[in-house]
Amino acid sequence: MSAVLVLNADFGPLHRVSLRHAVRMLFRQVAVVHEAEPDRQIGVYPMPTVVRLVSYVVTRWWHSRGPMWSRAGVLARDHRACAYCGAAASTIDHVLPRSRGGANEWTNTVAACGRCNNRKGNRTPSEARMPLRVRPFAPTWAALA
Ligand SMILES: [Zn+2]
Repeated sequence: MSAVLVLNADFGPLHRVSLRHAVRMLFRQVAVVHEAEPDRQIGVYPMPTVVRLVSYVVTRWWHSRGPMWSRAGVLARDHRACAYCGAAASTIDHVLPRSRGGANEWTNTVAACGRCNNRKGNRTPSEARMPLRVRPFAPTWAALA
């Protein structure tokens, strides 16, 4: 069995690679030996059975899922422009208010200026007659970068 398990920097298992590939990672100093076979060497290294990445890599699973919701993320996505009037926004508004079950989700939150946020209160945009200028969406990592 020559496959070597690769751990992320936070010790989460990622995938298996060939011994040859693992040694290349050690040589390039992107990984360190985490567990080795006793008394066996490969070149200057102990024969690895598990290697660990030096710096954390964002997994593909995480990529496909997109960034987690955050207030800062909503402001960045909406370019800090109020979704109701277009003025500079520093708060976020829940399209369906929190008090009525609206979630902290990308598609339920928009950037809003303090004035619009107050004015809308615990109402939906249609109840408040405050149409959204933009449709909230779940951004990709690239969109927030
Ligand atoms: Zn506004």
